[in-house]
Amino acid sequence: MEFLLTEEQVMLKDMVSKFAKDRIAPVASDNERNHRYPADIIKEAGELGLMGIAYPTEYGGAGMDYISYMLAVEEVSRWCASTGVIISAHSSLVCDPIYRFGTEQQKQKYLPDLLSGKKIGSFSLTEAGAGSDSGATKTTAKLVGDKWVLNGSKLFATNGQEAEVFVLVASTEPGQKTRGVSAFIVDRETPGYRIGKVERKLGIRSSSTTEIILENCEIPKENLLGDLNKGFKVSMVTLDGGRLGIASQALGIARASIEDSVKYAKERQQFDAPIANLQAIQFMLADMWVEYQAAWLLTWRASKMKDAGIVYSQEAAAAKLKASEVAMFCANKAIQIHGGYGYTEDFNVERYYRDAKITEIYEGTSEIQRLVISRSLLQ
Ligand SMILES: Cc1cc2nc3c(=O)[nH]c(=O)nc-3n(C[C@H](O)[C@H](O)[C@H](O)COP(=O)(O)OP(=O)(O)OC[C@H]3O[C@@H](n4cnc5c(N)ncnc54)[C@H](O)[C@@H]3O)c2cc1C
Repeated sequence: MEFLLTEEQVMLKDMVSKFAKDRIAPVASDNERNHRYPADIIKEAGELGLMGIAYPTEYGGAGMDYISYMLAVEEVSRWCASTGVIISAHSSLVCDPIYRFGTEQQKQKYLPDLLSGKKIGSFSLTEAGAGSDSGATKTTAKLVGDKWVLNGSKLFATNGQEAEVFVLVASTEPGQKTRGVSAFIVDRETPGYRIGKVERKLGIRSSSTTEIILENCEIPKENLLGDLNKGFKVSMVTLDGGRLGIASQALGIARASIEDSVKYAKERQQFDAPIANLQAIQFMLADMWVEYQAAWLLTWRASKMKDAGIVYSQEAAAAKLKASEVAMFCANKAIQIHGGYGYTEDFNVERYYRDAKITEIYEGTSEIQRLVISRSLLQ
């Protein structure tokens, strides 16, 4: 697909690919199986500009576009989907709303450290009773004097354990659901703010997923992000971009499944010949490749629309839906091609399979993506 990319985008892709092969690939499996956060790799990613690719240099970003971001998340996720989501959640779900909806003062205060990777960000929309129904937020924010006082708990915050800057959504007009929520920026050290349960997960175990507990947590009045009671819009616009990050993560997992399967099919001998000689194996590989190409083009198209400033919610949902289902499809076939060995930890394909599943769930399940797409079609 390189003919669709600019020279600068190809250079970025090659640079990230080399970084991922040299630094991420050797430790990815061990880190993931041991639930270990790759702190040194994230620090280096920050030094390379990967924590702020698509943001202006005036705030400390790399000044590149969203296609470059998509390519970088795919290259990283090719070797480690956990590292892919650490970068994606930080960049799409925290840097993006601060850049897009923040006041100049908020941008100056938070973006330089976030975009350079000196600080990690985490985004919290989900609660126990507010998953797909994300407007059903029970966490409250009340203005008392010149402080917002936050109470409640949020669930499943990616990067929750390491983050120092949190963007979260709370109800400012209880009972008004989506019309009564607002977004806030919270610093980790704020009294009344703490991390609760850390989830034990099926996959992407190098990235943390945590509960966040707010008990009379007081933040300055100026930490409201965007307009009062417009937090649902902040979240939905943020998730459009986030879905491209997850689509790119899924592309990385799909490509890893294909590349590992091609290699294995050429090496594995059965019936006195490589299994790559069997048409059954060849056709699985062909189907995997076609599906990956289709998902890549959908993701590229939606990213291109974002770069062009065109409304792309439907296209982002389509890219995320397709790429996540393709990641599952390819990882499943990869295990099939590896036979019994694919079911063991001796090969990476079992990790791809575990990692692929989450891409169908977070930042809106596949059912919610179908809802977004069909609503656009029917409006
Ligand atoms: C590892 C991990 C990381 C995460 N990271 C973050 C994060 O950083 N920040 C954050 O805010 N959240 C995060 N989440 C939360 C994630 O976005 C939610 O889990 C997801 O949106 C689904 O919500 P739920 O789990 O409550 O499922 P539910 O909403 O309870 O859904 C259960 C089932 O019902 C279906 N369903 C629900 N409503 C409808 C409908 N209207 N039409 C059709 N089907 C429907 C769903 O598709 C699903 O199959 C993370 C979750 C995980 C597991």
